Parts: sequence; structure tokens; C-alpha cells
Amino acid sequence: MTIRHALEVLDQSGLGLLLLVNEDGQFERTVTDGDLRRLLLQGVALSDKLETMPEIKSIVVTEGTTRREILDLMNHHSINHIPVVNQKGKLVDVLDRKIIDQQILLSTPHMGDSEKGFVEEAFRTNWIAPLGPNVDAFEQELADLVGIKYAAAVSSGTAAIHLALRIVGVGVGDVVFCSTLTFAASANPIVYQGATPVFIDSEDTSWNMSPIALKNAFSWAEKQGKLPKAVIVVNLYGQSADMDALQLICNQYDVPIIEDAAESLGATYKGKASGTFGTLGVYSFNGNKIITTSGGGMLVSDNADHIEKAKFLATQARDPAPHYQHSEIGYNYRLSNILAGVGRGQLKVLTDRVNARRAVFHRYQESLKDIENIKWMPEPDWSYSTHWLTACTIRPKSKINNLDLIKAFMAEMIEVRPVWKPMHLQPVYKDSMYFKHSEKSVSDDLFEYGICLPSGSNLSDLHVDRVVEVIRACV
Ligand SMILES: *Cc1c(COP(=O)(O)O)cnc(C)c1O
Repeated sequence: MTIRHALEVLDQSGLGLLLLVNEDGQFERTVTDGDLRRLLLQGVALSDKLETMPEIKSIVVTEGTTRREILDLMNHHSINHIPVVNQKGKLVDVLDRKIIDQQILLSTPHMGDSEKGFVEEAFRTNWIAPLGPNVDAFEQELADLVGIKYAAAVSSGTAAIHLALRIVGVGVGDVVFCSTLTFAASANPIVYQGATPVFIDSEDTSWNMSPIALKNAFSWAEKQGKLPKAVIVVNLYGQSADMDALQLICNQYDVPIIEDAAESLGATYKGKASGTFGTLGVYSFNGNKIITTSGGGMLVSDNADHIEKAKFLATQARDPAPHYQHSEIGYNYRLSNILAGVGRGQLKVLTDRVNARRAVFHRYQESLKDIENIKWMPEPDWSYSTHWLTACTIRPKSKINNLDLIKAFMAEMIEVRPVWKPMHLQPVYKDSMYFKHSEKSVSDDLFEYGICLPSGSNLSDLHVDRVVEVIRACV
């Protein structure tokens, strides 16, 4: 091939790169437009043969090289394309950085069309404050959506849990029961209040709080002569807990439920919105949740006094006086009017987001249905789950455990996570009481084998298929 011909081919391809192969189809080297430019500057003629080029050894990879390794090579050599050769040295593919450098994350924010409008309105009217019209509207719109009377928008889901505990009177020396299989934010506010958490196991059917374990914990508490001040029931990965069974027990002892629905906005239990069953309910709008305000939370209740008290405590507990007067200790927990604007826009697309996450789950389920040792988080008849995260257990027959799997995902630039590490196994809570579902601790087992797959509402089918491929290769 002449230099002229090579330049023509290069011009047509638009890749900025030629791949030279010999008569047998074996890969020889790459030629970039820079290589040709240098030849011309050195005085080589357009009619000269390409063979006059100095020899170089091009960077190639073989089939089966991980995405992470390929990207590292591209970065190390400052190149954007790498040819792939098979064992016989034949060219099979050429990889493009734009395609390789696509990370798949667990759950990312997904904005709609109207968030910016609400935020701009806040700027236009100079409502750059905690409180304001977006906050009021966000509270009302969320309350209407889930079918509850009152709501208080706050700076995080954690803040909402903390306020809930204050409102039901949890204080120093009290005991609070809490689901063990959850994020630390469910339990930490118990300790903020100087109270002691007692952790309750999950049941297999919903992965949420086991009524059997809860009953056992109450029997123990009764014998001690000290009932808990509250029970924090967590709705995991977009699915409600078995609220009827849990409420029956709590009502019997007259102990209020705080429903941690941080992960389950949009889900229902027997047709009623998750988060509306307890004395107080909590939602989160953290960046990874089903809808987000970048950071934020909501406390909801049918009790007007509770929500009024929450707003009071969340704004530094200022007594109604012209001067600054305080009879109680408060917090700075209210949501900004700007972020509430993001929340109002996100509420408009909540149903779309729920449908998209459910579709992601169904694609995983369908694509992997022939693999026996994958068990999906069950969705009982009474539950309509948002599948905020697609969660499953993988019990490989080979020696691969879920940490090996996670490594394999990392090599392919896919973010996955084990199921929450139960609170009773956390170093910080190692001395806490714990009540199991049966002889076996269900949550320990779920932690050992459970895994959460990328589940964002903005994942493409191609992304889901990439995840499926890695699972197939490992399992
Ligand atoms: C995210 C989360 C929280 C905390 O919400 P933040 O808004 O991040 O403070 C609490 N509980 C559960 C179960 C969560 O997933």
C-alpha cells in the first residue's frame, strides 16, 4: 500500500487509525494519521510504500481482557483505540475509549423536565432560604401523593428519623427496636437520643422485619419490665414490610411505629402507600434514592401536632416571641426552598421512575431465569415494590462467593453492592441485643449471599445486558 492510498483510507474511515494486517489476516500494527504526517515531513513521497515506516510494536489486547485493564492501557499509553486479537494473532475487533469508558453505577440521579423551572422560580423571587413556597408546595404535593394529611420537608432522611424519635419521646436510657437489615442511618438517631437500639431480624418472605422476631423481642422486654419507646420498621430496597402483622404486635403493647420508608417511596402495601402506616413515616431524597433533591427528607403523619412539632424542632425550636427565645433544644433541619423545587419536579416523574426500576428488575429476572442459584428478593402478594434496587442472592455451586463476584464486576466497571451489612454485625453496635427470626439468622444469610445490582431508572437495556453477561460468566 502506498502512503497516498493509506491517507485516502484514513480519510474515509474517520477513525484516525489504520489497522494493518498481513495476507493471512494476522494483525501487524496500527498506523495513525500522526505516523503518516511524520513520514511526509521526513521527506517520504506519497507514492512510496508504507513499508518504509520504522517498525513499532502496537499495543493490542487479547479477547477476555477486562474493561478496567483496557482502560488502564489506554490511559497509560495515551491512546483512544486498542485492537483486539485472538489466539492466532488475527484481528477481531478494535475498541474505542468512548465505549470502553462507560461505568455502570448502582443508582444515579435522574432529573425530569420541570425541576429547573421550580428552581428558577426560587431564584427569580429570591426565595433562597430554608422554607418558602416550594417547601410548602412540596410538602403538600407529597402528602397528597401518598395519601397522608401532613408532611414536613427536612434536610435528610436521617434528620426525619431523628425528629420522629424526639416526637414520640425517646430519650436517655430508653430502648428502641429497629430492623437490623438496613443502612446505619435507620439506627444512628436512636443513639443521638442517648437511647439503646435492639435489633430485629428479617423474615425470608419480604427480607423485612420478622413479626416472629419482633414478638420475641417484646416478650423479652416485658420480662425486663421495660418496653421500647418506639419500633423503627424499615422497608428495604423499595418494598414494604408486612405492616399488618407488625402493627398488630406493636398495638398490643401500645408502642408507636416509625416507618423508615427512605427506600420505598412509590411502593404500596395492600394498596396503601408505603410510609403511611406508622405513627410517623420517613422518606429520603438522597442522591441515590428513587427520586432526589440531591439531599433531603420528609417526615409524614396524620397527626397535625406531630408535624407542627417537627417543623418547630427543625427550625431551632424558636418560641413564638419577637426576641429569640428557646425553651427546648432544636435543630437546623429544614429543607432549602431551592432543593424543594427540585423535589417538586421529581415528584411529577415518580411514577415513571418506579416503572423504569421495575422494568430493570424484570429484564434481569427474564435474562437470568435459567440460572437456578439466583434467587430474587421475593415480592409477596401484598407488596407492590418499586425495586429501588434489584436485589438477589447468588449461591454459586463453585467456590465463588459474592466478594469474588463484586471483584469481577469492578473489573468490568460495574458498581454492585452486597446487601446491607446487618446492624448487629456492625462494630459500632456489637454489644447490642439482637432477636433472630428462628434458629437461623435470616439477615446474616442475606448479607453473606445477597447482592444489589445496578438499578437506576436511567439504565439502558444495553447496560443491563452488560451486567447480565458478567453474572453469566461468573455463575
Ligand atoms: C437513605 C436511607 C436513610 C437516610 O436517608 P438520608 O436522606 O440519606 O439521610 C435512612 N434509612 C434508609 C433505609 C435509607 O436507605
